[in-house]
Amino acid sequence: MARNQFAEPHFHDEEAARKWFEAARWPEGPICPTCGSVRHYATKKPGRYRCGEKECRRDFTVMTGTVMERSHAKLTQWAAAFHLGASSKKGFSAHQLHRELGCAYNTAWFLHHRVMEAMRRGGLDLPPLGGQGKVVEADETYFGNKPETKGRPKKPGFGHKRAIIGLVERGGEVRTFHVPAAHLHFVVDIVEKNIARESRLHTDESKLYHWVGKQFAAHETVTHSDYEYVRGDVTTNTIESYFSVFKRGMRGVYQHCAEKHLHRYLAEFDFRHNYRASLGYNDTDRTIAAVRGGEGKRLTYHQPH
Ligand SMILES: [Zn+2]
Repeated sequence: MARNQFAEPHFHDEEAARKWFEAARWPEGPICPTCGSVRHYATKKPGRYRCGEKECRRDFTVMTGTVMERSHAKLTQWAAAFHLGASSKKGFSAHQLHRELGCAYNTAWFLHHRVMEAMRRGGLDLPPLGGQGKVVEADETYFGNKPETKGRPKKPGFGHKRAIIGLVERGGEVRTFHVPAAHLHFVVDIVEKNIARESRLHTDESKLYHWVGKQFAAHETVTHSDYEYVRGDVTTNTIESYFSVFKRGMRGVYQHCAEKHLHRYLAEFDFRHNYRASLGYNDTDRTIAAVRGGEGKRLTYHQPH
């Protein structure tokens, strides 16, 4: 990463940062977050607008109704946090933010979690992955330990690990899910809700996918227990390499990750994959996408773990 990655004015000047966020969130001008109206007045305070609708008349800023609302952090700090979150290849951490910004660790933790939340996509309204002639790979993996087994001797198997189910459209988007356990009903539910039936489904030989696989145009498997990883174009290598990027990133950058936050870390890695350079996105596009993803989301917790 270049040393002068924070050279632009919106990393140093609050006014410049406000204008940068306004341009990112409202390219056509301010929109009232309460009623959606574009009619507004400027107030005496720069950056504070008043809704022009009689029934509404609410005051708002670029932070209102986003993950930034009610934060005491400066907009320049938010700008740096969004930039680091969107431009670092393997993830960024509260520690890194704390060092780069010279702010209190609690502030950095706060910024980090809110930027991750901004990167998280809504669950139910997403269009299904795949489609006619497309391949979707599905696989499950295990990461970290569940807190209740901490300090106890580990049982053989994966029962003490956190389970993750991952789906990836080849050449397209990834979607991962933290589940209580890699059990059949979680797998079936996620696969049914997130993959278009016209797709070809690629998995390993795991029994988890046998039944649900019948719903797809094809269900093709590679037999990992026989060391078969690729057969023609049948493989789960895309989702497996995604999992390994996630695990490397989590080991290298994140010291601790409470189970309740795992979905948010996954969302951060999903976001970077889905806005990756090979799909034509640069750091700025990705940063703006993250800022816009922060709309309509407010976090309620306040305690660093
Ligand atoms: Zn309004």
